[in-house]
Amino acid sequence: MALTQCPSCNKRISSKVKECPHCQFVLAGQSKEEMEREGFRIKQEKSDKLLSRSMLALLIAIAAFTYLFLQQPIPGTWQYGMSIGAMVAGVIWFLINRVQLLFLKKKKQ
Ligand SMILES: [Zn+2]
Repeated sequence: MALTQCPSCNKRISSKVKECPHCQFVLAGQSKEEMEREGFRIKQEKSDKLLSRSMLALLIAIAAFTYLFLQQPIPGTWQYGMSIGAMVAGVIWFLINRVQLLFLKKKKQ
């Protein structure tokens, strides 16, 4: 049984399977070129999604920071808690997306 690489997730799979068991990428009936193109398209889509999500997260963090900076809510009030929470969540979300993007790029050969 020959092993091949899934063009979508790059995991080792049997060349006989019709569908990647890891990411359900359909392999049957497609030429090598088509598969590569499809795999590239999927990766591109994923990285686009991650990029726009990370931008959104960054925007949330910046908005919350701007609010904190301009309005200077009193510590202990819900406005203060909300803006700190949004800022932290935005930064963490941004970092998570960035790390995922990094891994996605690393897989690209
Ligand atoms: Zn796969």
